[in-house]
Amino acid sequence: MNKISWSNSIWFFDIDDTLIDTVSTTIPASEEIRKVFLAKYTPEQAMQVKNNFNNIFHLMMAGYRVKNADEWQLVPGGKKAFDKILEDIENHQIRVKEKYGTIKKWSREVFVKLAADKANLSVTPEIVNKAADAYWLILTEQTVVYPHVLELMQIIKGYSRPIYLLTSSDGRLRMDEKGQFDYDPQYSEAFKKNRIELLREKGIIFNALSIGDPEDKPNLNFFQKGLKIAEQELGCPINTEHAIMIGDSFEGDLQVPKERMGFGLVVLFQKDKIKLKIIDDHQIITGNLMEVTRLLN
Ligand SMILES: [Mg+2]
Repeated sequence: MNKISWSNSIWFFDIDDTLIDTVSTTIPASEEIRKVFLAKYTPEQAMQVKNNFNNIFHLMMAGYRVKNADEWQLVPGGKKAFDKILEDIENHQIRVKEKYGTIKKWSREVFVKLAADKANLSVTPEIVNKAADAYWLILTEQTVVYPHVLELMQIIKGYSRPIYLLTSSDGRLRMDEKGQFDYDPQYSEAFKKNRIELLREKGIIFNALSIGDPEDKPNLNFFQKGLKIAEQELGCPINTEHAIMIGDSFEGDLQVPKERMGFGLVVLFQKDKIKLKIIDDHQIITGNLMEVTRLLN
C-alpha cells in the first residue's frame, strides 16, 4: 500500500453522502415543499406534490444505482419508468441542453415542477423557486454529519494540513412562465456556496471549496478546477502523489483523480462497510473514514 506522509498530505473530500447524509435528509426536507404548496393549494394537493417529489427523487436514485441489467427489477417501474423521468427532466431543459450540451439531472426545481404536473397543478416560477429554496435550506440545517468525519477533520487540522471540498452542482435552475428552465452557473454556484458554508456550524472544516458549475463530475475539468483552487489557496503547486480524495462514488468522485491525475490515494466511503478493503496500492473502501489515518506515515 502506497503510504502518504502526514507532513505532505493534501485532503480532498466530496460532500454529499460522504461527509453528510444527504440522501436520508431528503424526505424530512421535502416536508418544506408541502408547506410552501399549502399556502396556495389544498392540503391534499400539497401532500400529493410532496409525495410525487419523493417518488421522483427515489426513482432517480434507484436508476442511478443500477450497474447490471438484472438490477432494474429493484427500480420502481423498472427501466421504462427511469427512462421516462429522464426524458421529462430533459424536456424541461431545452435551452440548457442547447447552451451547455448537457442538462442538470438533479435539479430539485425541475423535480418540484414535475411533481406539480403529476398532481395536475399549474405552478408559477415563484412557488417552484420557493419550494426548492425551502427544501435545500432545511436539508442543510437538518443534515447529519457522518460519525468519524469530524474526528478525522480534527486530526488533519492537528497536523496543520489543508482540506478542500469538491462538490457537484445543486443544479439551481430558474423556471420561466412556460415551464422551461434556464441555468446560470454563477447563480447556481452562489446558492451552493451558501449552503456549504452553513456546514462550518456543524464542525466541518475546510480551506476552500470548488463547485461543479458549469462543468461537473466526473469531467476532468471539474477536478482540474478544484486542484487550481487548492493551489491558489495553498500558494504553491500540488504534487498529486500526496493528494487524497475521499468520496462515495467511484465513477463520480475517484476514478479521474486516481486514473488521470495521479492522486496518491482515493478512498471510497461506503456507509455500511464494516471492514476496510484494500483494492490496490492507491485505493481503499471503508465505512469509517477514521481508518484512513492508518494509511499515513
Ligand atoms: Mg457524493
